[in-house]
Amino acid sequence: MLKGTAASNGIGIGKILLLEEASLEYTPHEVADPAAELARFRAAIDELAAETERDAAALRESAGEKEALIMEGHISLLNDPALKGETETMIEGGQCAEAAYETMCDMFIGIFSSMEDEMMRQRAADVRDIKAGLLRKLLGIREIKVSDAPKGTVLLTKELTPSVTAGIKKGNIVGIITETGGKTSHSAILARALEIPAVLSVADATSILKDGQQVIVDGGSGIVIADPNEAVLKEYTEKREKFLKEKAELEKFRGLRTVSADGTEYELVCNIGKPDDAEKVLEFDGEGVGLFRTEFLFMDRSAIPTEEEQFAAYQKAALVLKDKPLIIRTLDIGGDKEIPYMGLEKEENPFMGFRAIRYCLKNRELFRTQLRAILRASAYGNIKIMFPLITCLEELREGKAMVEELKKELTVLGIPHNKDIEVGIMVETAAAAMLADVLAKEAAFFSIGTNDLTGYTMSCDRGNQNVAYLYSALQPAVLRMIERTIVEGRKAGIPVGMCGEAAANPKLIPLLMAFGLTEFSVSAPSVLQVRKCISGWTKERADEIAEKVMSFTTVEEIEKFLSEIA
Ligand code: PEP
Ligand code: MG
Repeated sequence: MLKGTAASNGIGIGKILLLEEASLEYTPHEVADPAAELARFRAAIDELAAETERDAAALRESAGEKEALIMEGHISLLNDPALKGETETMIEGGQCAEAAYETMCDMFIGIFSSMEDEMMRQRAADVRDIKAGLLRKLLGIREIKVSDAPKGTVLLTKELTPSVTAGIKKGNIVGIITETGGKTSHSAILARALEIPAVLSVADATSILKDGQQVIVDGGSGIVIADPNEAVLKEYTEKREKFLKEKAELEKFRGLRTVSADGTEYELVCNIGKPDDAEKVLEFDGEGVGLFRTEFLFMDRSAIPTEEEQFAAYQKAALVLKDKPLIIRTLDIGGDKEIPYMGLEKEENPFMGFRAIRYCLKNRELFRTQLRAILRASAYGNIKIMFPLITCLEELREGKAMVEELKKELTVLGIPHNKDIEVGIMVETAAAAMLADVLAKEAAFFSIGTNDLTGYTMSCDRGNQNVAYLYSALQPAVLRMIERTIVEGRKAGIPVGMCGEAAANPKLIPLLMAFGLTEFSVSAPSVLQVRKCISGWTKERADEIAEKVMSFTTVEEIEKFLSEIA
């Protein structure tokens, strides 16, 4: 049995598909028979073009026209007379196909990368893609495609990247195992969004487990069992059925409002990363969006999204959600969120460093572009702006001043936007929690980010296994931060939500109700579970629990007490 981090609940039973990054190394050499080499090169091009054509057709079905067009662009590049023609001339001169093609591609990548026009720079990424594809063909390396995985597949990979995630067909992938990533890593968030059981941070999983091996993934307890015997298989098959039955019972809460047992209404919204997720929110009966993590729009591409691209993304989510709230968090990069092309300097202490609002306030053009896109989209729905990682009043004031300036500019230009757009903040640093009384006077709302707040309060990195024992939102120090933030926010008359993962923790929910939280923002698949949990508590009982919990002095006592009553 292997142990890892329980990252996405549920039981998956299936066969492993090991995703390995193949090495594309080769030794450049002279060829004795250039004509044969030329034929080998042309055959590889034709084969890759045919394959890309099939991918484009499949993408048109599963994702849409825009994605399909990207693949079709690759086919034109493969047949580009300059790229292909020059490579052929080099092969005729005696070079091996791998070296000739790589040289030519690198030249094109260099040219495209240095161009001003963003569309042109995007071409560099396309050439990189086809270069890798063609080298794989020439070297005879079979590419494993997640989208081709059969039903009953358990994905095993070092790290779940967004591009791998994009290929996942929900009906076919029954479990995910990775070597890296904690409970709040983006891999975990993606797995939960797809409702696929996942166990992350399983040490050496890709060397211990084998491709094709039968495996059980218990995403609730963080356990992986390889080659289970009949008794174990039976036990877990039953567990899976029980889990699915309980899930079906939650359906009774679909379509209801979110109210406590004594009638207090709460807002139950969702965390999303892409505009398309807005549809998921409605599908799972969420009441809006409490956190749109916009950094996902900047990932998995080779250049910063333009104002138009961002506007289209925010507008799309707003149109899907209609008048439901959509809180858009401005760019939160740095820390564990790297975006290679933005060239952020490596820092000794990235979590303490140049990230989120700090980065945006110093890169004003980038920030202005995003704020303008959000403001323009605000004409199409119920959009609010939220700044991440606030630590002091100056940051909030400076950000708000930029919003005001942009509103004036848009007004002069006659561009529609919500002139009364609300600007709130994430409370996810110890500084913001301690300063909640001050910040509440100038922020339209708070949203507590317990993922970071826990880390910053406990001085512990959320992804570091060695200090994971400290990382709990139930630590008395963290609970005091949360209580203080909610109480101060409510005193000032502003709504206080929570968008960290703790918002969906059934142990914490009665405490949050007692403290006075008004909004819970959770992953879409947790909506019904949280609604059910809230419906089970009265304010009186929640207050009793909170009083008791806040009298405890250790996390053990708190955990034990809350486990008994949950
Ligand atoms: C948080 O820190 O709780 C949060 C919601 O932000 P992120 O997980 O994106 O850092
Ligand atoms: Mg955060």
